[in-house]
Amino acid sequence: MRRSLHMKLVLIMVLLIVALMVVTGAFLMNSVTGYYINDFYSQMATAFGQGNVDFVRDLQTAEEGEVEGGARIGEVLSAYVGVLGVDGRTRNYYVLDGATGRYITGSSEAPRGGISITPNIAAALLGEVGFDSDVTADYMDAAIPITRGETNYIVYILDNRETVRSLNAEMFQLILEALALGMVISILLSFLLAKTMVNPLQRLTRGLEEVAEGDFSKSLEVTSQDEIGQLTESFNTMAQQLETTVAAVENERNKLNTLFQHMADGVVAFDHAGGVIHANPAAEDMLHCTFAEGDRYENLFDDLFPFERVESASAPLSAERVVDGQYLELLLAPFSHGGQGGVLVLIHDVTQQRQVEQMRKEFVANVSHELRTPLTNIRSYAETLEDGLSDLPPQTAKNFLGVILNESDRMTHIVQDLLTLSRFDSGRSELHLDRFPFAKAVEDTYQAFLMDAQKHGHAFNLNLQEKLPAITADRERVVQVMVNIVSNAVKYTPDGGSILLSAGHSGDRVWFQVDDNGIGIPEGDRDRIFERFYRVDKARSRQSGGTGLGLSIAKEIMAQHEGDLFLVDRAGPGLSIRMELPVSGPRKGAAYER
Ligand code: ADP
Repeated sequence: MRRSLHMKLVLIMVLLIVALMVVTGAFLMNSVTGYYINDFYSQMATAFGQGNVDFVRDLQTAEEGEVEGGARIGEVLSAYVGVLGVDGRTRNYYVLDGATGRYITGSSEAPRGGISITPNIAAALLGEVGFDSDVTADYMDAAIPITRGETNYIVYILDNRETVRSLNAEMFQLILEALALGMVISILLSFLLAKTMVNPLQRLTRGLEEVAEGDFSKSLEVTSQDEIGQLTESFNTMAQQLETTVAAVENERNKLNTLFQHMADGVVAFDHAGGVIHANPAAEDMLHCTFAEGDRYENLFDDLFPFERVESASAPLSAERVVDGQYLELLLAPFSHGGQGGVLVLIHDVTQQRQVEQMRKEFVANVSHELRTPLTNIRSYAETLEDGLSDLPPQTAKNFLGVILNESDRMTHIVQDLLTLSRFDSGRSELHLDRFPFAKAVEDTYQAFLMDAQKHGHAFNLNLQEKLPAITADRERVVQVMVNIVSNAVKYTPDGGSILLSAGHSGDRVWFQVDDNGIGIPEGDRDRIFERFYRVDKARSRQSGGTGLGLSIAKEIMAQHEGDLFLVDRAGPGLSIRMELPVSGPRKGAAYER
């Protein structure tokens, strides 16, 4: 770049000098020639004009007995060589015959081949004065007709312009020398110019290269106030603005990248040719695969929509896919990027939604089923009673009425449980917090079940840690949970079993645990035990008056207290279930997890 700019400068300077010299030279040489011609004719005019009467008269006056007038004119002319500027070398005079133009005499011999008839001689032959000269010709001449005595002659002055030519040659030589000197000066000047122009440009180029590599920190020194100085200033301003802009863009990109990396939804982007360009960890998790550069759309999503179809779609296309039991909702949309574009696949895990939907469906089916069973019983017993009221023994009728009452109690029970759950769901259920001794609540529950447990022949024991603190909680609800898990232990432990109630305090929490050696819960059902209406053995549960809602309500109550209810992991037989509560109650206004 430097070399080429330098060369250009040298070339411009040289061309400038050459052009200047050529123009000056041509002008000068032309002027010299013009001046010389003018000088020649003014000299001739002076010599032959009216101012020089003696000379003209001498030329015209014939002497008596004169034989050769031409020779006489020659003699007169030779006396006036000074006036005519005749030097015999570059300028000569000739006396020609006035009728033929033939050479008679002259300051030199006639040129070989004789004197050629120039336009001026031709004019003189006609009796006119020939005083014109062609600038382009290599001579200049003047032909003056002279009548001496009876005879006509022509005085012919011929200048071969040798003087002009040698003058011009010398001038040409001088111009050439000046040209050579000018070129040397111009080359030196071009170096100087190159130094003042190219060096700052070089600095700018280096600065630009650094900016291109992402280093905006250096600002260039402004060394002049000229255009290059302004350019340097503009460059510094541009670099600063670029730094700010790049930082903002970088920041934005980092933000987007963080979002992209940590967003819960999966994103896979494909370029115009269908190759993967981006994929976030969520997408890899959901699709159970790792993306590598070069992975193709055809191998991943072609079963949903062909690539071309997505690319030309005006609105996102949606599809669904099940991967390893997970329900995925996929949105496929085209995007355009610098006229290139590609396809974006957004993946949303809708498993939970599906499960909730499924649970809701099951719940409705369960509620209908649970209510229909007692209703059917009530109806059939009531019909039997109506049909044979008079024939039935009073005891049987009483038993029937007992069943009807039991079934309606069961229905009331179910409806009450459902109402409780619905209050939890809608957030309308408020805790009535109170401070009460936890040990007392446990003892009361133990006492409430003691007789029933003994009736079933269970070994029913209570193991209380000493000095249990008072806790802040909704006493009625907490006791409801205790009652539920103890009653389950009694219900699902065959007669003659063993049930242990224990309670204690650890950290800022109290706990209550019920261990039995009953039928326990099979491994596969343990996770679902807190679901609504879930019962391991439906018939048995219903027989024992269970609704399958007890544990889910108990779990909700514990969650509301920011406590917990869970199955203790231990080998069978039987089951261990444990509840935990914070001593100081739930934090005020804290949301609880369901
Ligand atoms: P239910 O009113 O049917 O007892 P729960 O929600 O209290 O409903 O309990 C749900 C199911 O959990 C019961 O139907 C039963 O199958 C099982 N279960 C609860 N506690 C025990 C236990 N101590 N031993 C064995 N199974 C239990």
